Formats: sequence, structure tokens, C-alpha cells
Amino acid sequence: MKYFEKQNNKNQCLICPRKCRLSEGQRGLCSAIINQGGELVFESYGFASGFAIDPVEKKPLYHFYPTSKALSFGTFGCNMGCRFCQNHHISKHKFDMTRAVAATPEQVVQTAINYGCKSIAFTYNDPIVFMDYAVETAKIAHANNVKTIAVTAGYILPEARKEFFSVMDGANIDLKAFTPDFYKKLCLADINYVLDTIKYVANETDCTLELTTLLIEEQNNSDDELKREFEWIANNLGTDIPLHLSAFHPDYKLLDKPRTSEQTLLKACNLAKDFGLNYVYCGNILNERMSLTSCPKCGYKLIERNGYNVNVTGLQQGKCGNCGHVIYGRF
Ligand code: SF4
Ligand code: SF4
Repeated sequence: MKYFEKQNNKNQCLICPRKCRLSEGQRGLCSAIINQGGELVFESYGFASGFAIDPVEKKPLYHFYPTSKALSFGTFGCNMGCRFCQNHHISKHKFDMTRAVAATPEQVVQTAINYGCKSIAFTYNDPIVFMDYAVETAKIAHANNVKTIAVTAGYILPEARKEFFSVMDGANIDLKAFTPDFYKKLCLADINYVLDTIKYVANETDCTLELTTLLIEEQNNSDDELKREFEWIANNLGTDIPLHLSAFHPDYKLLDKPRTSEQTLLKACNLAKDFGLNYVYCGNILNERMSLTSCPKCGYKLIERNGYNVNVTGLQQGKCGNCGHVIYGRF
């Protein structure tokens, strides 16, 4: 990989803000990048931790070819330190040949085509830590008319992110909270880099962006914090970027916090709408009203969802079938 600098007998990784300085044989904090033969390499290039065929709504992406299928895969390791990680069985582990599935980028794309997938989703662990594999797969996907999706926490430095997002058609970026303290204590990260990435993707790329905030009771769901988040989104990204507010369930090291209640989610969704956000959705619970896409101009029902049963009822070529308003996304 090319994003590193030689420093005496170490190499400094420039993929993400951690900027790990690695001696020969040493892995970065993400466990995914190793100093090998004087170079930094992505250890699991060409090996996935698993594949699945998902409804694109599961990523979650609600404004990106609704009802289509995505071939999802990830690798091992992660550059975030989330204490509530739901994929810790892969994100907290280094490359493991005994659990890996060999698949060249060409084979990944061919698999997507064979199974009728509209897109390939780089997901499960953060694709930033298998960037070379994802970028090469994305280029081959595009040559074969297959779309690409990144599901990421957005913790990446500007030079690497420019290349990474240049080959992504859709992205769901986690905005895990809106306080530096939460990011520091529960994700071991600096929120400012994440906000910068989100602004970059929304304003300087062609990528269709959606955001997800996993709401954890009494950790990131105070009215004050949510208001500041929604105001920031409206002011910096505009009111059309879809926002998924999802329910937490206890996992990994955050086992002492309760599952997020439906009441908490609905309250937060209504607050987001009060701030003028046009597309706000509840995640990880079944609620048809808060899964519905309506025209922000005339209120016409456009896409109805019941779990992963999705009906595109009122859209016509990306516009409201009633008033002709252009709806954010790709359809
Ligand atoms: S991508 Fe991995 S090795 Fe590189 S700086 Fe981030 S944590 Fe360190
Ligand atoms: S970014 Fe995602 S995969 Fe990585 S530690 Fe956080 S929750 Fe887990």
C-alpha cells in the first residue's frame, strides 16, 4: 500500500489519524496492516472473513437502488475501538487463515454478478483497513456495471479518503455520537476527523451518502446532544442526507447498558424532523411509519417498508410521482 512514510527503521501508516509507526513484523492498532519486508501491507488482501447477500436496505441504505441486493463482505481488524462493536468476532482479530475465504477482486465481482447483486458492499469491519482490496474490487465492479458501497466509521486521513471514496457509489457513515468525549471513551477516536470525512463525502464527492447514529440510552441521546447533531447536519450537509437512528443492543464490552427503547428512538426521530431533516428513519426496530420515505415537498408516499419488505410506490425516475420533486439518492 502506498500511504506510509519511512522513518529511520520504522514505517508510519498514513491511512488513518492514528498514524501508527511500525517496526518490521509489527501490526498497527487495527491489526490489519503489517510492516513486512520494509513495506506496509494489508494482510488480508484477497481474503474475506465471510460473504452474504443482503437487501441493500440492511446496510442501511434507503436511497440507493431500493429493493436491490448487495453482496456484502469484510475482512479482519478495525481502526476504531468501539466498546459496543457488534462485529467484534472479526473487528478485534487479526487476519486468520483458518477462518478466511480466499477471493480475488475478480472473483468477488463475478460472484456479485452470478447472484444478481446490483452492488458490492464493503462492510462488517471498516473497509478503510482493507482499502486496497476494496478499491481494486470497486474498479473491477465498475467495469462490469456493478455499484459499490462503503459502510464505514469515516476515520481516515484526507489523502487516502480521496482515493477510497472516488470509487464508492454509496456510503453509510456512522456518526456514532456528537461529543468528543463519547468518541474518545467509547471508540478511542477523535470525532473531528469523522465530521471532516462526512462533510467531504457529502459536499465534494458524487457518492450517495446516508448516516447512522446508534442511540445508546444515557450515552449519546440527550436532547441537547441530539439537537446539536441535527443542527450540524442541516447546516453542513443540507437537509436531504438520510439519517438512520438505530437501536443499540448490549454487545462486546458494553453489556451493562439497556437495549434502546422504541420510545427513545421515536422521540429522537421526531426531534430530527423538527430540525428540518427530510429523511429520518428508525433502525433495528419494526416501525412502518418511521421507515417510510415521503416527499418532503408534498408528503406523497414514495417508498414503504415493513422490515425488508420494500415497495416503491410513488417514485417515478427519482422524482415524486405526485409533484415531481427530485428525491435525494439513486433509484
Ligand atoms: S490504518 Fe491501521 S495501521 Fe494505519 S494508522 Fe490506522 S490503525 Fe494504524
Ligand atoms: S467501526 Fe464498526 S467494526 Fe469497527 S470497532 Fe466500531 S463498530 Fe466495530
